[in-house]
Amino acid sequence: MSTIGILGGGQLGLMMAQAAKKFGHRIVVIDPDDQCPCVSIADEFICAKYNDETAIKDMAALCDVMTYEFENADAQVVSMYLDIFPQGSEALTISSHRYKEKKFAKKLGLKTPNFFKIKSEADLFQIVSFPTLIKTCRFGYDGKGQWLIRDVEDLNEIKLEFPGEYIAEDFISYDREISVVVARFVDGIVTYPPFENVHEKGILRQTTYPSSISEGVARLAVDAAIAIVEQLNYIGVLAVEMFVSGNEVIFNEFAPRPHNSAHLTIECADFSQFDLHIAAITGQKKIEPQMLKSGVMFNILGQHVAEVFSKQAAKPDKHVFIHWYGKKETRFNRKMGHVTIAGDDKLNELVLRWRMSR
Ligand code: AMP
Repeated sequence: MSTIGILGGGQLGLMMAQAAKKFGHRIVVIDPDDQCPCVSIADEFICAKYNDETAIKDMAALCDVMTYEFENADAQVVSMYLDIFPQGSEALTISSHRYKEKKFAKKLGLKTPNFFKIKSEADLFQIVSFPTLIKTCRFGYDGKGQWLIRDVEDLNEIKLEFPGEYIAEDFISYDREISVVVARFVDGIVTYPPFENVHEKGILRQTTYPSSISEGVARLAVDAAIAIVEQLNYIGVLAVEMFVSGNEVIFNEFAPRPHNSAHLTIECADFSQFDLHIAAITGQKKIEPQMLKSGVMFNILGQHVAEVFSKQAAKPDKHVFIHWYGKKETRFNRKMGHVTIAGDDKLNELVLRWRMSR
């Protein structure tokens, strides 16, 4: 039994904590919001900013091991406690900067969209192929900090803030989006098979297992995820998001933490991504997860809350698992929970019934 410190008290922290409790661990959480999802489950809760060095020092003194649940954790703070942060700081430094991340993937030999850095207005005029996406290098998530540039007119209208760092990358007209969730233990690497994802306006709406990609494409995707985690000084779960175009796999980004697209492993696998993460960071022996059932996950965004309650009240079903994150404030596009439909029985019928209307 260990005491595990979690930097960040959001839904990923909550599901990490739920897994940790099954293994009998204690949980300490730090988050600036004293109403965050982890408040109700933490054995100790520290209300402070993630880069509050005194608070982190106090937390480190209480914990055998620490983890972070989001990629904008402060890499410098993490690097001060490397001996108790098995995820390390390297994966954070790279994944929290989109240009560094794409350069890292390219250097590894992975296919990426064409990209370059934008540091000034003048750099914008290097964009000659359309459509192009411009993204902030830092702090973009769920489609925030992204602009689609369809033509020169869009380019003339866009207002970026300088000094500031952006990346411009080719817009890929992909066939599918997939993710591979990989876990590195002290004694080896394991992965789940690829999951297939649907995003709308940059926000994940649906994940499906099994994916509809071929075995060859799945192999390429799994190999890419393994190559990434092998290159980093990293222990724990890590997710890689990719585009599939024909038989090609194109790297988009990675997240050094459990990922929204693998929430269905809670019901559809023998060991969930959160079980794997906790086992890996506490130094347990490698667990080879097996997918046991097909599944579909829908995110419950703020605008879906009433719809989910009425669907559940109208017809509860033993294959439908609803997770609420306990967030106090409901907002449009805010992730409030998720629904997993697990099992091969009636999957199509339930998916049609549960697909969110907006
Ligand atoms: P990101 O925050 O980079 O993961 O982007 C969020 C979503 O925007 C992705 O899951 C895609 O649906 C879309 N997207 C991001 N980059 C590209 C790209 N280069 N081409 C096409 N769609 C993209």
